[in-house]
Amino acid sequence: MTAEMLAELLEDLFNAQVDDEPAVLGGAQTRSFGETDVLTGNAGFVVTLPDGSAFEITVVKSKHGRGTRCEECGRQITADEIEGYRLEANDPTAVPAICEACVEEGSR
Ligand SMILES: [Zn+2]
Repeated sequence: MTAEMLAELLEDLFNAQVDDEPAVLGGAQTRSFGETDVLTGNAGFVVTLPDGSAFEITVVKSKHGRGTRCEECGRQITADEIEGYRLEANDPTAVPAICEACVEEGSR
């Protein structure tokens, strides 16, 4: 998982919570750093509350996990490949065991 993917997930979770607790969070809005003028190379998002206060949530990846290398060729599986795999599997946490090139080679 990339920092961008986790930041998107956390933003979605926050927005779901806004819908669940309108009395406390109603009117709260989020924007990813990419949609704002926040000067950072990090992944994250800004939460703006109805009273005008704002919070920056920054996500920094601190350690690489296992399972992101292809079990066949050993190549690093890219974030794009993982995202495509998850869309096809319809499972936002699925992790492919082998890369796209090895999948194509196996289906030939
Ligand atoms: Zn491979």
